[in-house]
Amino acid sequence: MLTETAVPVSPPGPAPWGAGQPFPPGGSLAGGFPTHAEIKRIQLRKLRALLDAILPSNPFYARKLSPSGSRLALDSLEAYTRTVPLTTRHELVRDRLANPPYGTNLTFPLEAYVRCHQTSGTTTVPMRWLDTAESWSRIVDNWVQILHAAGVTKRDRFFFAFSFGPFLGFWSALDAVHRLGCFCFPGGSMSSHARLQAILDNGITALCCTPTYAHHLGEIAQEKRVDLARSRVRLLIVAGEGGGSIPATRSRIERLWPGATVFDHHGMTEVGPVSYQCPARPGALHVLESAYLPEVITPHSEEPVGTGETGELVLTTLDRTGSPLLRYRTGDLVKPRPRSVCICGRHELALEGGILGRSDDMVVVRGVNVYPGVVEEIVRRYPEVAEYRVQLDCRNAMTELSVEVEPAPASPSLAALPGRLEQSFQAALNLRVPVTLLPPGSLPRFEMKAQRWVRVTE
Ligand SMILES: [Zn+2]
Repeated sequence: MLTETAVPVSPPGPAPWGAGQPFPPGGSLAGGFPTHAEIKRIQLRKLRALLDAILPSNPFYARKLSPSGSRLALDSLEAYTRTVPLTTRHELVRDRLANPPYGTNLTFPLEAYVRCHQTSGTTTVPMRWLDTAESWSRIVDNWVQILHAAGVTKRDRFFFAFSFGPFLGFWSALDAVHRLGCFCFPGGSMSSHARLQAILDNGITALCCTPTYAHHLGEIAQEKRVDLARSRVRLLIVAGEGGGSIPATRSRIERLWPGATVFDHHGMTEVGPVSYQCPARPGALHVLESAYLPEVITPHSEEPVGTGETGELVLTTLDRTGSPLLRYRTGDLVKPRPRSVCICGRHELALEGGILGRSDDMVVVRGVNVYPGVVEEIVRRYPEVAEYRVQLDCRNAMTELSVEVEPAPASPSLAALPGRLEQSFQAALNLRVPVTLLPPGSLPRFEMKAQRWVRVTE
């Protein structure tokens, strides 16, 4: 018999974070969470240790930073960002192809590495990323921080609604959940209906998947008359795409899962788990600044963005000595909140609206910057829309954007829906975006990252 009692795990012990450990989960150590000045001190100390470890033994960075690498004297984080060049995905891919099978971004001899993960390669050649046991342990530490922020306890019972592929996120999340002592059910290679049954039968309280799949599973439950009010699911921990920080998407998912809350976070195989939803203010992600040095730059000029502006997230991995990244251009578009203490008490950088999209997904339509998160936010305000697809017609000099929508079952007043959506696009973007209504069931559904944007090029 499953009990309803929830008990906290890993109560804060003696202040560990000053000694190079993650920040305290509860923030109750010696006056609360680290201030921005304390965060910067920790980052600088870790950065110096990282550079000492990787130079000159890491061939990729020894080459990249030569000759400045030999005389890098870091007296501040600003000196680091001024001196060290950005790292791009293209450089890493080129290095890997020239030096198969792993490239040369390796600080230690090959026998020191115990894990290999691989990126999806949707936009380029997949990257293979190796980790030592030490680096892996730090990644799991960071995931544990995310779980703490989500309020996970050892009594939580997890269901992973995906097959475990080569991405890092699956495995690091699993190890973190095990470290907390939670029950885990790996739900790969199952139909959605079978997953719902397993969620009910096993008293699952926390579901990990993409926001798209949390929504899809909720829809299947309605279709198959599975009563999710009977489930014990209280947390929907989502990642892989931006919807978890978009209010309209969150509320759609939460309506399908009575009693459950969406908790967003994000990470990347070549970086690790990066951010977690602000516990007090859904819709913003805090960066784990004990593990990463974040910057936000204008994609073209590479200068820091101004207050309230959207830019590309650049990360330095402070804990992944075996295969580090210095000032890595992630391609993720974010809007940093001005630096101040958050209402949750943390001083860590907050990204308003989470991950807004990929810099290579952003399109300019009639002079307006449009990224996937904006379209998602507008469409998801309409409960009558079950699924949608965005068409980008790039055949002429002027890129044109149009949207196809598929209605939810038994939706009333569909005739007016395209016009209402067009008005919403006009109001939000000052753009005329034609909207077409499709028959029910005509658009694809997704288990992993959704691919809703289609480019028409010829
Ligand atoms: Zn916060």
